[in-house]
Amino acid sequence: MKKQNSLKIIPLGGLGEVGRNMTLLEIKGEILICDMGLRFPEEDMLGVDCLIPNISYLKGKERNILGIVFTHGHYDHIGAVSYLIGKIWHPHLDIFASSLTRGIILKRQEEFPNQPKLDIEIVKSGDRIQLGPFRVEFFRQNHNIPGNLGVFIETPVGPIIDTSDFKFDPNPVNDLPTDFEKLKALSKRKILLLMSDSTGAEKEGHSLSEKTIEQNLEEIFKRSPGRIIAATFASLINRIQQMITLSEKYNRKVLIEGYSMKNDVEIARNLAYLKVKKGTLIKNKELAGYPDSRLTILCTGAQGEGRAVLMRIINREHRFLRFRKGDSVILSSSVIPGNERTVQILKDGILRQKAKVFHYKMMDIHAGGHAQQEELKEMIKIMKPKFFLPIHGQYSMLVSHAELARESGIPEKNIVVAENGQIINLNQKGILVEKKTVPSNYVMVDGLGIGDVGEVVLRDRQMLARDGMFVIVAIVDKQTGQVRGSPDIISRGFVYLRESKELLAQTRKKVIEIVNRAAGSGEAVNWSYIKDEIRNKIGQFLYTRTQRRPMILPVVIEV
Ligand SMILES: [Zn+2]
Repeated sequence: MKKQNSLKIIPLGGLGEVGRNMTLLEIKGEILICDMGLRFPEEDMLGVDCLIPNISYLKGKERNILGIVFTHGHYDHIGAVSYLIGKIWHPHLDIFASSLTRGIILKRQEEFPNQPKLDIEIVKSGDRIQLGPFRVEFFRQNHNIPGNLGVFIETPVGPIIDTSDFKFDPNPVNDLPTDFEKLKALSKRKILLLMSDSTGAEKEGHSLSEKTIEQNLEEIFKRSPGRIIAATFASLINRIQQMITLSEKYNRKVLIEGYSMKNDVEIARNLAYLKVKKGTLIKNKELAGYPDSRLTILCTGAQGEGRAVLMRIINREHRFLRFRKGDSVILSSSVIPGNERTVQILKDGILRQKAKVFHYKMMDIHAGGHAQQEELKEMIKIMKPKFFLPIHGQYSMLVSHAELARESGIPEKNIVVAENGQIINLNQKGILVEKKTVPSNYVMVDGLGIGDVGEVVLRDRQMLARDGMFVIVAIVDKQTGQVRGSPDIISRGFVYLRESKELLAQTRKKVIEIVNRAAGSGEAVNWSYIKDEIRNKIGQFLYTRTQRRPMILPVVIEV
């Protein structure tokens, strides 16, 4: 297989993980980027705000990037733009997105003032654009945010498809049902490669229609005597729409609470993706003017996110909202793996404050936005691709999806389960993963720092979080090499100093011994050796006495 005439597909994120989606398509040195997403950190990545793709492969190739296409406005597809665009931007870079996706990207850019001003061209289903050797055609896909576009790309080796996140929904919210005729029309053009969303590949059957969700939510509206407080993700515009529609039907006013949700609602409303009657939305000052039975509060925090509205209400830290008897609290989002514990704390907290809780495990009040096994097989059957590459998902999801492709009749040799950083070569004859890889490790964002928090910093933070820190300050006489007075000890998160006088006295004694022995010989003093000695010996000593390993920071001052 000739590599130079092949299309290279390079996933920089989203394979072997949920989130951080970003894929490069490259042919003869010309590059097209699809999505630039972020991912939220794992519990042990202390203090890290988010994880973004590593784009060092693009260094020096900036001018060869023809453009970026965005499929939809979820952060796992657009969230890394603010951190990465400055590194690859040039005046001829073409960027394309639906109007809602564009609105969400530009709104987020406002929080990053020192960035190039992005000129994003609005595209809609059916639009075609030419970017060098790539002819891109957008098509509508149902998901749980409007303005979601799959991409069909005519390349010199043949047509390929990126499905974007999708599900087949016969009764979607604010959107038309899946256009199967359109999908069939695309498939007639002999799809060489299908890249399809794997997030739901381990779930049997068909995803729930938004119609079912709406009926179940309506039951709660019928039965609730007091306020309805509904929490979901800010970007789940479709769920927000359902809550607003039901509130209007049951004569409730709606208060939107939470910065990101207010933003997203405003963007979607301005672009007519969200239908709200005049007078439905109220401000917090107006709350008192309505009885509980006429109020709905929509807010963020269904995952128990620490800074989100719901957690602040539970902790009685919210400016004006408290739970009370009669409230019905709806948690309408599936629990992201790893968040189970915080969601449990959330539920218990709400119940302790005498409000009722409804969550998706009790009834279907949340549908995921992703196709499940039956839909995934249907997509493969419609597209009849020669080659298949599962994208978006944990490794096990990719493998499940590959299995579905086999069941759907794609020969095993034509299916590739790839990982981030691999280079997949594609042409009419075959699909081949190169041995060589490109960097694709996590780049961690913490505050203003991008990538400066690496493995070492993270390990330090984990150590500090586990056993705390222990600072020893010793003042040493330059002339004699002996410790002057008694070393100072500062400790955080290790032991309570006042109750550990004995331990501290012994530690001080040991420090004096170590320094005096090493520095008192009259020869030139190697201070870094002495610091290492303190770190090791005191570390061992503290461990034998406490079975803890605090981070030890020796400070030696010569006077
Ligand atoms: Zn999505």
